[in-house]
Amino acid sequence: MAIDFIMFLFELPASCRKFIEKGVLQFTLPRKIQYCPHCGASHTIVHGYRMQRLRGLAVSDMTCIYKSRRYLCQECGKTFMEERTFIKPYQRMPNSVIDAIVQEHGALVTEEHIAHRHGVSVPTVMRHFARAMETAEKKADRSTLPRILSMDEFRGNVGAKYQVVMNDLEKKQCCAILKDRSKEALYDAVLSYSQEMRESVCLVSMDLSSFFRKIVEEHFPNAIIAADKFHAVRLANDALNEIRVDVQEKLDSEQRRDFKNAKKILLARKNTLKEASLSKLKGMLNVSDDLSHAYQLKEEYFALFSSKDHASYKRRLQDFAEHVAKFGLKEFKRVLRTTYQWQEEIWTGIQTGYNNGFTEGCNNTIKTLKRISYGFRNIKNFRRRILFVLNNPERQARRTKKSKKVSHNI
Ligand SMILES: [Zn+2]
Repeated sequence: MAIDFIMFLFELPASCRKFIEKGVLQFTLPRKIQYCPHCGASHTIVHGYRMQRLRGLAVSDMTCIYKSRRYLCQECGKTFMEERTFIKPYQRMPNSVIDAIVQEHGALVTEEHIAHRHGVSVPTVMRHFARAMETAEKKADRSTLPRILSMDEFRGNVGAKYQVVMNDLEKKQCCAILKDRSKEALYDAVLSYSQEMRESVCLVSMDLSSFFRKIVEEHFPNAIIAADKFHAVRLANDALNEIRVDVQEKLDSEQRRDFKNAKKILLARKNTLKEASLSKLKGMLNVSDDLSHAYQLKEEYFALFSSKDHASYKRRLQDFAEHVAKFGLKEFKRVLRTTYQWQEEIWTGIQTGYNNGFTEGCNNTIKTLKRISYGFRNIKNFRRRILFVLNNPERQARRTKKSKKVSHNI
């Protein structure tokens, strides 16, 4: 039973509560002067009682019956319900229980779980959540955009294949979830903010999407772009991985199995490897020159991201480019091309320390939510739920605690 409602019952005068049978508590509100809502007169008498069995209080075996009074106005002859604040008219659940149901949506639990806790149906739970979100959306502040914004896509399983999530990297809050990554959806979302608001954005962190870049260049005139380092390093890891697959194809079955199992060793940073892994790595690199070269390129590429200043970043990029040319691996030529296209944005990410790590964390939360919810049929409810979970103050506090204190140069 919702704790707030128990407190409410306790605070009633003892004379207002009685057990009318085992496990059935009946209560009335204390008598007080009632004013007629039709004419304002205070000359009223009790017209009758109504028994309302309250819902949503499950857990215990107790049933609560609210014996409500109906008054008759002596002036105008109309009847009305007594004044009360713990429950809304036409509701059978106390407000505090409805609040609890809505708040429970902030955790990674199913609607079935919430419904079961309160002994109500799933559609009831969904209806209360949707109603609360509608009210919140009407009140929501659409007058500002974050100073530091991130844009990223994630794989959804409702409607379109991909959705786009926009986050506030300073407040660690999710601002918007777009229904797909189409031009229309993005332009609609971006242009729903005024020019003035868009001018206040000073940095946008994004994955390496030329369309995201174009939209920021066109519509966020004061924003610099930071290319997300996680997406960038993935390019090098993917290239290395492709080469590993090629090399292992040519091996005998035993060696091939070893190679597959050691995939993680190749992709990890060398300086994080323990003795045993290092010797395994050495063995693998001895098998093929291509793999050995690819590994060297991957390590050089990762090193770009620990550059302390622009000059050393440029120098490292130059070295990397020379080695790519020397080794002639087409997978890394591709990495280099993309990196050249994004070299200033990648540097901005390194220099400011902004990246989509927070956004990736959000995407993982979303994935978990999808897994436990068997997929949402309704994109609107899905987006509402994601926003509610991501912006749940408890989770936010946990995330801020976990994330290292980074100072940003902007
Ligand atoms: Zn009246």
